[in-house]
Amino acid sequence: MTELDKISGQSAYDFAARFDYARESGTAAEAQAAEEICAQVRALGLEPARESFSFDTYEIDRASLRLTAPYEAAYPARAYGNAANTPAGGLAAPLVYVEKGDRVSLRRAKGAIALICGRVREDTCRALVQAGAVGFVSITGTPLEEQEDRLKLDYDLRGPARWTLPGLYIHYEDARRIVERGGSAAVLVAQQRQVTRQSENIVVRIPGTACPEQVIALTAHYDSVPAGPGAYDNIAGVAILWETMRWFAAHPPRRTLEFTFFGAEERGLCGSKDFMGRRAGTLESYVIDLNVDLAGQTVGGTVLGVTADRSVCDTLEALLDRGGIGAAVENKVWASDSNTFAICGVPALTLDRDGFGMHTRHDTVALLSPWALERDARLLAYLTAELDAMDRMPFRREIPAEMQQGLLRYFGGKPPLPG
Ligand SMILES: [Zn+2]
Repeated sequence: MTELDKISGQSAYDFAARFDYARESGTAAEAQAAEEICAQVRALGLEPARESFSFDTYEIDRASLRLTAPYEAAYPARAYGNAANTPAGGLAAPLVYVEKGDRVSLRRAKGAIALICGRVREDTCRALVQAGAVGFVSITGTPLEEQEDRLKLDYDLRGPARWTLPGLYIHYEDARRIVERGGSAAVLVAQQRQVTRQSENIVVRIPGTACPEQVIALTAHYDSVPAGPGAYDNIAGVAILWETMRWFAAHPPRRTLEFTFFGAEERGLCGSKDFMGRRAGTLESYVIDLNVDLAGQTVGGTVLGVTADRSVCDTLEALLDRGGIGAAVENKVWASDSNTFAICGVPALTLDRDGFGMHTRHDTVALLSPWALERDARLLAYLTAELDAMDRMPFRREIPAEMQQGLLRYFGGKPPLPG
């Protein structure tokens, strides 16, 4: 498909460069990005449809950690989102280092604040509750980070165990000092509010010339975490989608192509959940979802993370071979908006190119390259064109039962759609 040569990394890069600012879900900056995306879509002669939605999230008010025995000291700390509140005056309790939370170490956590390595997720949170811990302080980072980079991540709890315990996270170096000095009691303050915010999805359709009732979805989220401008996560994905759209606007597809830019992915796939909720009952029309999340840096490798039947992987492997385009294919539950399609029964994949600086201030457009954007935009356009050219999809549509279980776990035991 030599015509795909017209797909330009420079064009995608120039697009991405317009968005070199943080676009936190539900803020004015995210809304500004939505306006800019719409303007760029109109510049291609296409009309965006805008679907606004509200989503529930958290606002952190206070977070602090003070050691009270055997010495007094305060340490910089941030609170986990979707965690329980402490009393305003704080929660005073023994502090116990449980390392990574093995069964035996957790025996000492009863009635204590557990100091624990790594990010606390659903399973660990549940184990802490079972052990009788009254709160947790998790340890993040490495000794290499300078002061301002130490606590830039945003951690939250997502499964049914959210809101069960108050939780903070502190930096590696502070945790090391606490343990080495024998820290044994602390006052933990963590307070947050549940809030409702607004976001929007932007949907652009290029109607199919032969079978317009069949839809290939192409998706990417445009919001970022608050810490940085989310260039490879994921304005690069948005730029790749836009560049692919630019190509298909000039080369009409047989099936309908529906390009969607999701808001509020970083707060729990809120955009794709709203999107699928609105389309419940019409999901049969979706042939596949091709999602892009993480892309655009030169040093890295491209993976197609396929959440669908194994036969989808076989189809993709054959296309990659024929097109002479390298990419790894992995058949598993991913961690992006493609999951929302998959749990609703639509075969889905995320095109993902690893990179440096995710969810930090270092994830800037400066690290993106026209080379990498062009490489993955051509891959996406190639896969789209090849799938579109097929009379019928050569893969099974059903999501295997084991994968459905994995998806259900990912969504905290609760499918994102009503019914
Ligand atoms: Zn992302």
